[in-house]
Amino acid sequence: MAVQPPPADRRTVVENAAIATVDAHDNEYARGHVVLLGNRIESVGDGPAPTRLDNVVRRIDAEGHLVTPGLVNTHHHFYQWITRGLAQDDILFDWLVALYPTWARIDDRLVHAAAQGSAAALLKSGCTTAADHHYVFPRHGGDILGAEIEAVRELGLRFTALRGSMDRGEKDGGLPPDHAVEQLDAILTASEEAVDRHHDASPGSMLQIALAPCSPFSVSTRLMRESAELARRKGVRLHTHGSETAEEEAFCRELFGMGPTDYFDSVGWLGEDVWMAHCVHMNDSDIAKFAETGTGVAHCPSSNARLAAGIARVPAMLAAGVPVGLGVDGSASNESGELGTELRTALLINRLHGSPRALTARRALRLGTMGGARVLGRQDEIGSIEAGKLADLALWKVDGLLHSSIADPVAALTFGALPPLTVLFVNGNAVVEEGRLTTVSEDRIALACARAAKDLAARSI
Ligand SMILES: [Zn+2]
Repeated sequence: MAVQPPPADRRTVVENAAIATVDAHDNEYARGHVVLLGNRIESVGDGPAPTRLDNVVRRIDAEGHLVTPGLVNTHHHFYQWITRGLAQDDILFDWLVALYPTWARIDDRLVHAAAQGSAAALLKSGCTTAADHHYVFPRHGGDILGAEIEAVRELGLRFTALRGSMDRGEKDGGLPPDHAVEQLDAILTASEEAVDRHHDASPGSMLQIALAPCSPFSVSTRLMRESAELARRKGVRLHTHGSETAEEEAFCRELFGMGPTDYFDSVGWLGEDVWMAHCVHMNDSDIAKFAETGTGVAHCPSSNARLAAGIARVPAMLAAGVPVGLGVDGSASNESGELGTELRTALLINRLHGSPRALTARRALRLGTMGGARVLGRQDEIGSIEAGKLADLALWKVDGLLHSSIADPVAALTFGALPPLTVLFVNGNAVVEEGRLTTVSEDRIALACARAAKDLAARSI
């Protein structure tokens, strides 16, 4: 069952909370209010909510809370929820080679379970919009994209489903085994069908599609070019992995005679409608090209650390004007699956570039909210708390044991432990209450994921 939007005339009032709006002026209120009307934010400001509001169905006294925009996840692989904790000590290429044969045995039923596990972890850590990059489509796997979309719809998360693809197998010099890749024509047909069937471009959309060939070492040059043409013809965005590791850089130099950014440029893959995951190995010229073209970046610090890929130059990207958002990345390289904790990881890891000012608490929060919204092309609808925007909000409890002695609530959220999430609103609906999902039983999801992981492991023997 999909979560329905609330009636358009129904108001919810949140009062007595610290509010970080993440608007253009970084307005904050030490003790303010937010009023939701239907699935949109009606007003936000200092002090109590306006009096004499009609049709208030819920009034939340959010004393002791920080209210932020819902977090936006710009890169994930939901299906990996059932292959976590494997290849624990490998770099990316070895980790992929270890996992491809297992992933090539997934089907729509397993993906439904895994997607609910991943989406639940995101919601429970404050994420209200997520992009998921799915690029493994076994021949007899059923309707994998449809299963993933249905799984997310049941939980009420705002979603961008990325129809991924791989067509460069080992025989063509790629990394994945030949049985794990699809044929180019079949990919393009399925990609167009995915857009026609699922993409909702209307205001307030809960489901959008983007096209997402996987990476330079698993995708042919022709598929890169033709995916870009198809996406632009259909009016959807483009996503891929880029400049993730030193090995990818060497692969591109050997096969294409240039680094990844120049390669992407040569196949029409830089632009405001494109964002890339990782972008760890970027020189000044690469960053300048991203800035000039408005190409976005999904910064995934935990996954980059897990696979020893390196540290993306986020401060330099931000200084140059590159749009940057945060990503969890697939749960097989970030087992926590939480987006909320990535605020802290991004904050800390970027200071390892050598400056305590590389990223501030507020800049980290901006990356996880407005930054992600911009990367997904939805900056006019989500990412900040402003009148008229969609009602996607997180209410973090910052007066408990772990946070009560930190006076600055934004520092409590970004430097401290991830605070308890009292309520998470997506599209005006409270999909998390007191830290628990309100839509689907968490125990049921946990059981389905445990069974799916065992089933897939057994298939892989
Ligand atoms: Zn990834």
